[in-house]
Amino acid sequence: MNIQILLGLLSTLRELRQHDRWTHQQLKAHQASSLRRLREHAYAHSPFYQRFHKGLTDRPLNELPVLTKAMLMEHFDELVTNPAIRLEEVETHLANLRGDERFLRRYWVNATSGSTGQRGLFLFNRSEWTAILASFARGHEWAGAEISLTHRMKMASVASTSPWHMSARAGATLQSWWMPALRLDASEPVEAIVRRLNAWQPEMLVAYASMARILADEQLSGRLRIAPHLVFTSSEVLTDETRRRVEQVWGKKLFNQYGATEGGDLAAECERHRGLHLFEDLVLPEVVDRDNRPVPPGVYGDKLLVTVLFSRTQPLIRYELSDSVRLAAAPCPFGRPFALIDDIQGRVEDVFHFPAAAGGEVAVHPNVFHRIMDKVPASGWQVVQERDGLTILLSGVRDGFVEETLADAFRQGLAAQGAIVPAIKVQRVVSIPRGAAGKAPLIRSYRRGAREPASSASLSGASG
Ligand SMILES: [Zn+2]
Repeated sequence: MNIQILLGLLSTLRELRQHDRWTHQQLKAHQASSLRRLREHAYAHSPFYQRFHKGLTDRPLNELPVLTKAMLMEHFDELVTNPAIRLEEVETHLANLRGDERFLRRYWVNATSGSTGQRGLFLFNRSEWTAILASFARGHEWAGAEISLTHRMKMASVASTSPWHMSARAGATLQSWWMPALRLDASEPVEAIVRRLNAWQPEMLVAYASMARILADEQLSGRLRIAPHLVFTSSEVLTDETRRRVEQVWGKKLFNQYGATEGGDLAAECERHRGLHLFEDLVLPEVVDRDNRPVPPGVYGDKLLVTVLFSRTQPLIRYELSDSVRLAAAPCPFGRPFALIDDIQGRVEDVFHFPAAAGGEVAVHPNVFHRIMDKVPASGWQVVQERDGLTILLSGVRDGFVEETLADAFRQGLAAQGAIVPAIKVQRVVSIPRGAAGKAPLIRSYRRGAREPASSASLSGASG
């Protein structure tokens, strides 16, 4: 691994540690000056932003238009601040990517898996990539991992190994004596994953939430025999039951993280487990409703807008992530200045619409399903909305489970929401189907006529 990158990472991490002790005023001042520098850079070097913010360059952030992934991809060549970057060539680079190569020998390219329809491509120069790596390292450090030149931590990840995926790219940069890592693909058969984890004996386990739950069950059954000091989940909705099972087998060592290919780790749990602290010194978050109006703490937003303060190659200002998160009403008592998210319920695409008993339509939020499904004795599940009703897929079902009881719970739950109850099928499967990045979303809808189903819980998390 590149020693310059490692030293840059450690020095950025030292800076971030100081931010943890900031007062609210210090954080606000840092955000204001970082935002000013970002906007100046975008207005000086991005033809897209010169037009997009025309007449608004002096207006406050919340008066600026929202940037979607579709817009970013449509105006790719104009949005980037280096005219040598061309989408067509970036695509070619990505198609041939094997390890830690850089586009134009300068840019690390990451892609989202396109689970919500369109793939997004994101380029990072050295300083941006260092910030991304430091954001992940910060999450690990908050959980108690020691990160220094002299300390190595043996880790295993069960996520995506596609070379364009952020978890694999970050791994390719960091792979070294310093961070010996076993990277397994979440779409491999569980027996193979278990066998390799047993041989590797990781101190740190990083996995999609759905995979952490399966592995906890494997440990409980005695097939998996590992003793990680830390377990990190990301990229999918983490339900209470999954957390309970992981803690049951490995102790209170689970730390959830919320990341996005667009900005690295955006939020992480601290040692108090009161929710996820937004990394507001790196990214300005806005929790908003579908019309981009701010939503108060305690209420789920429809989207999260992010302004990535360190972005320069592709400035991201009020960039839309379709994740539905809720800000906590009370701050974390541990003293970090950053706002807390106390729940992430998935993507706005996961909200199912049903004909309402009272006429019109009713929107049913994914946490209605999470609450019912969390109690089911199975190692994996997925609720699929099809044109003619709901299908519930279950894998690893244990004894004593009755299909009809579950179907009834769904009928009652949907009726309580005011929906006309659709046909409900319960189906046992060997494993829950995984998408392009190996994720197994909890909720899928085929109703919108999209070729690819809207993927739930794929919380744009180093994902997409
Ligand atoms: Zn905290």
